[in-house]
Amino acid sequence: MKVLGILPFARQLLTNAVSLGDSVIDGTAGNGHDTLFLAQLVGKTGHVFAFDIQEQAILSTKERLETNDALSQVTLYQQGHEAVKELLPTSSRGNIAGAIFNLGYLPGGDKAIVTKPDTTLLAITDIFSMLKKGGIIVLVIYYGHEEGKLEKDEVLNFVSKIDQTEAHVLSYQFLNQKNNPPFIVAIEKR
Ligand code: SAM
Repeated sequence: MKVLGILPFARQLLTNAVSLGDSVIDGTAGNGHDTLFLAQLVGKTGHVFAFDIQEQAILSTKERLETNDALSQVTLYQQGHEAVKELLPTSSRGNIAGAIFNLGYLPGGDKAIVTKPDTTLLAITDIFSMLKKGGIIVLVIYYGHEEGKLEKDEVLNFVSKIDQTEAHVLSYQFLNQKNNPPFIVAIEKR
């Protein structure tokens, strides 16, 4: 297949927007796959701020980063991404090149612990205000679970109303796949 799948496309969007030395955010560290990807994109001169509310996720992300010699360029917060504005150094305001969120529950973890619309939208709003021009927020939306459907609707409603002079907002989705496959919403600051 020549068309990029959902996860490769999410990474391509980040690769296009992020350079060595940049500051970026992983809003949902989970098992740390995206945190490591971002840490490698920004390198030792850049920085990743990564959030997750679960200790298990933070530990597993830390281990993955250590194994790949990428822990030094990452700050891990065992806190909700909705606290991003109060936790990040003020120097990062206006300087964030990219952010990723994988919404839903931790694969292999407690399926009752899921991202929630209110906190997701708060984090997106705050991170958007911290993006530099050309910076991007990539949301990978999983909505197979009950709360996920509500979150999907709220996120789509919210991003559709962003003024087109402020951001390019796109969705990338396979329309003929079964079982609520994940899809992407991306917000690029103009
Ligand atoms: N990107 C991850 C990976 O590479 O493994 C997967 C992330 S998983 C789909 C979603 C994660 O969001 C879970 O680990 C969950 O604990 C976390 N989460 C839920 N609510 C959160 C919040 N308010 N702030 C930060 N993380 C949250």
